[in-house]
Amino acid sequence: MKKITDGKSYIDSLRNRNLIVYLFGEKVKEPVDHKMIRPSINAIAKTYDLAISNPDLASVVSPFTGERVSRFLHVCTSAEELVLQNKMQRKLGQLTGTCFQRCVGMDAFNSLYSVTYEMDEVNGSVYHSKLKEFLKFMHQYNLVLGGAMTDVKGDRSLAPHQQEDPDMFLHINKRTDKGVYVSGAKAHQTGCINSHWMMVMPTMRLSEADKDYAIVGAVPVTAEGITYIYGRQSCDTRSMEEGSIDVGNAEYGGQEAMVLFDNVFIANEHIFMDGEYDFAALLVERFTTYHRRSYVCKSGVGDVLIGAAASIAEMNGVEKASHIKDKLVQMSHLNETIYATGIASSYQGFKTKSGCYQCDDMLSNVCKHHVTKLPFEMAQISQDLAGGFVSTLPSEKDLNHPEIGKLLKKYLKGSSRFSSEERIRILRLIENMTMGRNAVGYLTESVHGAGSPQAQRVQIGRMMQLEYKKRLAKSLAGIEVKTDKNMIINELGDYFERVFDTN
Ligand SMILES: Cc1cc2nc3c(=O)[nH]c(=O)nc-3n(C[C@H](O)[C@H](O)[C@H](O)COP(=O)(O)OP(=O)(O)OC[C@H]3O[C@@H](n4cnc5c(N)ncnc54)[C@H](O)[C@@H]3O)c2cc1C
Ligand code: SF4
Repeated sequence: MKKITDGKSYIDSLRNRNLIVYLFGEKVKEPVDHKMIRPSINAIAKTYDLAISNPDLASVVSPFTGERVSRFLHVCTSAEELVLQNKMQRKLGQLTGTCFQRCVGMDAFNSLYSVTYEMDEVNGSVYHSKLKEFLKFMHQYNLVLGGAMTDVKGDRSLAPHQQEDPDMFLHINKRTDKGVYVSGAKAHQTGCINSHWMMVMPTMRLSEADKDYAIVGAVPVTAEGITYIYGRQSCDTRSMEEGSIDVGNAEYGGQEAMVLFDNVFIANEHIFMDGEYDFAALLVERFTTYHRRSYVCKSGVGDVLIGAAASIAEMNGVEKASHIKDKLVQMSHLNETIYATGIASSYQGFKTKSGCYQCDDMLSNVCKHHVTKLPFEMAQISQDLAGGFVSTLPSEKDLNHPEIGKLLKKYLKGSSRFSSEERIRILRLIENMTMGRNAVGYLTESVHGAGSPQAQRVQIGRMMQLEYKKRLAKSLAGIEVKTDKNMIINELGDYFERVFDTN
């Protein structure tokens, strides 16, 4: 194995791996050459190419090897580095218009770094040093890590050990002196087929009865016993057609697959939690705090949509109308709101005992909660500005037809400053981002990725400091406020309510 240095060597590294991937009821021979899968591989390749064109943004000097590696493999040692993650994510969203699939792995490394440290401190385990060894290995070859947290979960009202079928959550079947064997299924796995390794992690708070579900470990994506079933996306087969117009974004796309684990081996040196059920909630919380502000990626994708909306307005000849300008202002306002809350969470990052920086929980949840809604309003405005052709355009084959093609181009012309094809391409891009393949990333992933909306509301509710705020109000209203043993004082001299674990 050679170190991956650019997009091309990354794509080469994925060849001949004999992964078991099902798509349309058949095994895929070589995912790299599959026309429906390739755009998702191109999106990750872009993360490597950006590291060459803008090394300060998308790469770091590895503390393990002294060589440059992707920022996606780096554990942050300052708030500035958390901020740079967000800046890189926005840039990649702008360059690909889609999900570039690497942030779950990045956020898994960062959260595990502090959690393994704190676990070892309490239990005398050696997970942290094993994690550092694994990080060093990933840096040596500059590899891609996927993050496998979400289990299929069965009946949502039941804990893992209460499920009728124990495989509804990934769990340990067997322990040997060399490692453990796990079975279960992880759903919606972003970029898993395009990764080199996967980090399996529990998806929720666990109790003692769920001990065998408290497993964190790194698995090569090629491991025996793993089967991938590729997820369908709206309009996905357009990538398999001739031409580059109807697909909207011919080069880039996202990827999700279901991953089935049938007695998959995890070696001892790659196990970073085994049975410590009382640390599962801490890991989920730290991971989601990183990951919910990673959704600033959507502000980069939003920049593309704003550009498409402004372009179609020009192509329709209406760009000077005041309501059009106002709608573009509204889109920008929404988009910057996402970015502002995400990057603020990073700027408020603080040092954990391990030395790794953790971002601000409240602002991260506020960022992701905006993401569950604001891209939908932006999509609505872009479709408003596009006009009805965003959903009724004839096909590329009709445009190129020897008899009707000329007539179609004549009738599909807008402002004389642009060709019909240019107008059609922008309409197809808006379709792609708001109803087609990349609406998976821009809209549905925005709702559910890193947890459905209610998950953020629960966290915001836990952190909203109502008692403290009531004291502020009462004090100004002239009501006497007494010292309360449940309040703690922070370094700025403010009283804060103790946050109790209510789940
Ligand atoms: C495009 C995409 C990419 C993703 N990428 C990844 C990835 O790379 N890695 C990964 O690990 N995960 C990934 N996810 C998974 C994501 O985190 C989950 O989709 C999310 O946590 C919701 O889980 P679910 O899909 O099982 O929906 P559910 O949990 O079934 O949620 C459906 C609804 O039920 C509600 N609900 C759920 N449980 C309860 C309950 N106990 N009581 C009351 N209401 C409840 C929810 O609030 C929601 O409204 C991705 C998801 C998407 C859509
Ligand atoms: S949805 Fe955004 S944060 Fe998540 S992996 Fe894709 S690009 Fe990264």
